[in-house]
Amino acid sequence: MRAMILEQPGTPLFAAELPDPEPGPGELLLRVRACGVCRTDVHIRDGELTTATRPIVPGHQIVGIVERGGPETTTPLGTRVGVPWLGWTDGTCTFCQRGRENLCTAARFTGLDIHGGFAELTVADERYCFPLAEGPTDLELAPLLCGGLIGHRALRMAGDAARLGLYGFGAAAHIIAQVALSQGREVYAFTRAADTASQAFALELGCTWAGDAMKPGPEPLDAAIVFAPAGELVPAALHACGRGGIVVCAGIHMTDIPAFPYVDLWEERQIRSVANLTREDAVEFLDIAPRVPVRTHVTTFALEQAEDALDAIRSGSIQGSAVIVL
Ligand SMILES: [Zn+2]
Ligand SMILES: [Zn+2]
Repeated sequence: MRAMILEQPGTPLFAAELPDPEPGPGELLLRVRACGVCRTDVHIRDGELTTATRPIVPGHQIVGIVERGGPETTTPLGTRVGVPWLGWTDGTCTFCQRGRENLCTAARFTGLDIHGGFAELTVADERYCFPLAEGPTDLELAPLLCGGLIGHRALRMAGDAARLGLYGFGAAAHIIAQVALSQGREVYAFTRAADTASQAFALELGCTWAGDAMKPGPEPLDAAIVFAPAGELVPAALHACGRGGIVVCAGIHMTDIPAFPYVDLWEERQIRSVANLTREDAVEFLDIAPRVPVRTHVTTFALEQAEDALDAIRSGSIQGSAVIVL
């Protein structure tokens, strides 16, 4: 099969011809139709997240068709399924036992520990594959599998915030903005001051306001979700929140957070992170998304252009999501 592989973090992915993978017990062999590209893939490529599996095939927003099931699987051949970041958990640690498998101490992640979707074929544990509704296209669905699922978890952590700030208006934010708007919330988009393209995109989607992330918005926020990996946004977001405000950090990697005055945390403001997802998050969000309905804005790339897709995300040069199409 054709695949894009990362051999050495910090070096470009390159095209390789690999043996077709074989599904083991409980695993499905999938023919990949589309795979979303996420900022986490950039962090893996750039060596900001370390992987023990090398070379690794990245890609954790996989839309694929079941081509063959390994022993003990029951999903019919031809079923269209989605494979997210959470690829395996032990089911036995204290976190799994308490319904917090996103924090599983032995978790394995797609495209980091397990070969992912930047390939013609992939193998995934059936228990972490989600049947996808008919109707939406592969391209519409792929970005939901990370930006959507983890964004949904982050939105839940933002509580009942009526005024929600989104910091970094990329793949996840453009999806979650639509969900938040459908719930009747006001959404404020915070971007780099000069990024008028993202600001215009946010306003087009129905956001109330869009502007410079380093300054507070026109009204105090009830909650903010920080998607961009820049630590200086955390105190900026906190400062933009009113009493009781919650700042949710939704990225897996961020630069250091600078010091800030205690008065910005006072009055029961909170800072918290969101890590990974549970399978329950996936089931819940894949049910919500078509009812909103979430419309993803997608820029497509061929498999061999995976580096270009990563570049585009790193530089913020595309609006919405990047998807590799097989
Ligand atoms: Zn566990
Ligand atoms: Zn992701």
